[in-house]
Amino acid sequence: MKKKCLECGAEIMGRVDKKYCSDYCRNAYNNKVNKDSKNLVRNINNRLRKNYRVLDSFPLREGKTRTTRTRLLDKGFDFDFITNLYTTKKGTTYYFVYDLGYLPLDNDQYMIVKRE
Ligand SMILES: [Zn+2]
Repeated sequence: MKKKCLECGAEIMGRVDKKYCSDYCRNAYNNKVNKDSKNLVRNINNRLRKNYRVLDSFPLREGKTRTTRTRLLDKGFDFDFITNLYTTKKGTTYYFVYDLGYLPLDNDQYMIVKRE
């Protein structure tokens, strides 16, 4: 059984459990994997920050206001990125990005709220 280096694809000599042809390739491979996971975290954080800025751009009256799905999307809101859910005793679920949240209403209307 011939194994190939995960980094460069070169045939690996020696121990069966080796995954890389050299220390250089092992380091290069691991650096790439770490970089990818750092990028993933950075991208998600950026999306959350952007979503927060969008919610924060609506002036609130007594801690809430109304808008539409279209306005949220126009401002670049991405409904896939939230930090947590809050469900009231009555079973209403709010979607939060940090301390700013939204509640989907009928007819593409949305309530934006700030947590006390
Ligand atoms: Zn290699």
